Amino acid sequence: MTAREPGLVSLVGAGPGDPDLITIGGAARLATADVVVFDRLANPALLGLAKPGSECVDVGKTPDHHTLSQGEINRLLIERARAGNRVVRLKGGDPFVFGRGGEEAQALVAAGVPFEVLPGVTSAVAAPAYAGIPITHRAVASSFAVITGHVAAAKSGPGIDWERQAAGADTLIFLMGASRLGEIAERLIAHGRAPSTPAVVIEWGTLPRQRTVAGTLATIDERVREAGIGAPAVTVVGEVARLRDELRWFDVRPLFGKRVLVTRTRRQASQLSRLLAAYGAEPVELPTIEIIPDAEALAVDAAVDSLATSRYRWCIMTSANAVELFMQHLNERGYDARALARTEIAAIGPGTAAALEQRGVRADLVPARFVAESLADALTSRVLRGARVLMPRARCAREVLAERLRSHGAAVDELPLYSTSMPTSDSSEGILRLRAGEIDAVTFASSSAVRNLIAMLGGDTAPLRHTAIAAIGPATAEAVREAGLEAAVTASTHTMEGLVRALAEAPEEMMVRLR
Ligand code: SAH
Repeated sequence: MTAREPGLVSLVGAGPGDPDLITIGGAARLATADVVVFDRLANPALLGLAKPGSECVDVGKTPDHHTLSQGEINRLLIERARAGNRVVRLKGGDPFVFGRGGEEAQALVAAGVPFEVLPGVTSAVAAPAYAGIPITHRAVASSFAVITGHVAAAKSGPGIDWERQAAGADTLIFLMGASRLGEIAERLIAHGRAPSTPAVVIEWGTLPRQRTVAGTLATIDERVREAGIGAPAVTVVGEVARLRDELRWFDVRPLFGKRVLVTRTRRQASQLSRLLAAYGAEPVELPTIEIIPDAEALAVDAAVDSLATSRYRWCIMTSANAVELFMQHLNERGYDARALARTEIAAIGPGTAAALEQRGVRADLVPARFVAESLADALTSRVLRGARVLMPRARCAREVLAERLRSHGAAVDELPLYSTSMPTSDSSEGILRLRAGEIDAVTFASSSAVRNLIAMLGGDTAPLRHTAIAAIGPATAEAVREAGLEAAVTASTHTMEGLVRALAEAPEEMMVRLR
């Protein structure tokens, strides 16, 4: 066997669920990992941070089914590291708070494999925080203890010293104890905690599916059973649990717990997804549009040269994609933003204006309403008769704007830069969830997204009848109507923010949930 430089295993805390709660160091390790070994409690969304092409191994521990045994996991880590790989062992919460991170580290030491630990945000702290419970509070609790419910409820063996536990800390936090809550509460009461002590159980904390049940030591077990709460759950016992009523912040967001489909291109989806998450929703991305750059080289070169030599009075950007592709062509031809210096720039809306700004260009004109007609109104009052206008755009864009300007006497050169098409692969999860009735609302930011989604559903609009449809503007709402459906919400401000706000303000009964 040839000796290779041994790799490194990073034991990385994934945080409790919300992907925002991974550390910067953990995210950086993922970005350079050759192998990622993860299990059930690490949010699979974090795999999106992994280096493209890295090997992702699901050692998927479900409560009753281990895909790989602990010994097999240890061997996998050792073997991949010995082959010279950078290995990330992604573990839910903090790697050293239960969950056997310590045992994995010991196995690495025994095998002589170098390792490091990137601590994570433990669910013991984060789940209460997302339920509105600070585990210490100056006036209420000055200590906390984190206890495993498995051992706590064990009838015999090396259980815990109840005398000490019940009195040892003001706030008691139990992990892995959801099904043994009755026994835990009983023993705490038997060892001196008042039956009226507040207790809160948080299931799937920090995620859009978070559920919380509140009671007292006397009632919590029954409440949890009634609500059908299961693993994973954190239980908080102590006076701090009362603070939830005052400090709830996460599960009261307007779209909390709603699953919302995002139908934009893969690249554009993330902005809308982040906005939805900020309103408490769980975004489900289903790209319905693919951008295919297909500019004709000669036409682009000619247009770019004309622009750079100030032959155009106006340049009208009709989409963020057009901005991106046009600026790319500009750079490839050896120019930069200065080529636009003596041309007036119009953007169809704030998204397009933002794309320009990212490249150091501020639009001279952004219409008050974000539709082609409105831009035409704004422009016809400013574009002079005979003025030359360049319009980089999609191949099959609406002609309204160019026609209006021409009839007003402008000389418009349209410059097709890209086509849009329907993705052929990688969309199945969103489609499956839509068909399964697991989606509360569908967002559409363009009429082509409407048409493509329906085509991807094989023309069957039935799955869309059980969800609230939100359209970014009247043209998109019209496309929904043409498909024989009705938009429950049409944004009055035709931006991503406007779309999400309109959805958030929609009456609850519009968000029918058939789950
Ligand atoms: N290392 C992890 C804990 C692993 S033990 C950490 O630091 O969070 C697994 C237990 O963690 C589960 O049984 C549950 O009690 C708790 N847990 C993990 N993620 C959770 C979540 N999102 N919500 C509630 N409890 C969670």
